[in-house]
Amino acid sequence: MMRRKLVAGNWKMNGLVKDCAFPKALSEALNAEPRCDVLLCPPATLLSAMSATKPDWLKLGGQDCAAQTSGAHTGDVSAVMLADLGCTHVIVGHSERRSDHGETNETVKLKTAAALDAGLIPILCVGETLDERESGQAEDVVVRQLLASLPACDADRIVIAYEPVWAIGTGRTATPEDAQAMHAAIRSAWPGRDADVLRIVYGGSMNPANAEALLAQTDIDGGLVGGASLKPQNFARIIQSAR
Ligand code: PGA
Repeated sequence: MMRRKLVAGNWKMNGLVKDCAFPKALSEALNAEPRCDVLLCPPATLLSAMSATKPDWLKLGGQDCAAQTSGAHTGDVSAVMLADLGCTHVIVGHSERRSDHGETNETVKLKTAAALDAGLIPILCVGETLDERESGQAEDVVVRQLLASLPACDADRIVIAYEPVWAIGTGRTATPEDAQAMHAAIRSAWPGRDADVLRIVYGGSMNPANAEALLAQTDIDGGLVGGASLKPQNFARIIQSAR
């Protein structure tokens, strides 16, 4: 089964209006249209400006969405609003949302459902802590988290991001073999019969030096890239590693 790879940049809380020149710089660094899907998730404040100037091949996504569609939820941004701006994707359940904002699997499930209802492709994040990995529970924890955060959904309407918490922003990456084993476990735990079309991307200190080996694994269908997506040259090299 050939699944088209997806390389997504998660800018987190980084980026000012001047950084809307990024898509142009990325195009120049790439030199040719990418062979994989490329997504950028800048902060919500930049989506509108980027949506007006980005090249067609570059998709835009939010980093989070509300569980509700509209109403009295000060500070929140709904999936409908993201879709209205031209977003095609939204990250949900990132470990920083789970830890900074106390998001539970139940909240993440509601947000994932809201994204699907708005016609967006949710990128649902799951991952174990270092303690959980060292005590041999990583696969159990990740599969449990996935099943508890997942509403009913076809595999081609969602992306799963495996992001070990201990690898995010630390410079420590899962080995390609460990990441592959977890991706295979996620695929076999998928509740539908369409697991072969499910895209499962890896996140956690992916960079130009380690991307190729990770992206060469059978069940690794792309990357969710934080720090290394902030510089056009680095992000371009990762995109070029995805075949
Ligand atoms: P990182 O972040 O690449 O900086 O580790 C990845 C993520 O949190 O999505």
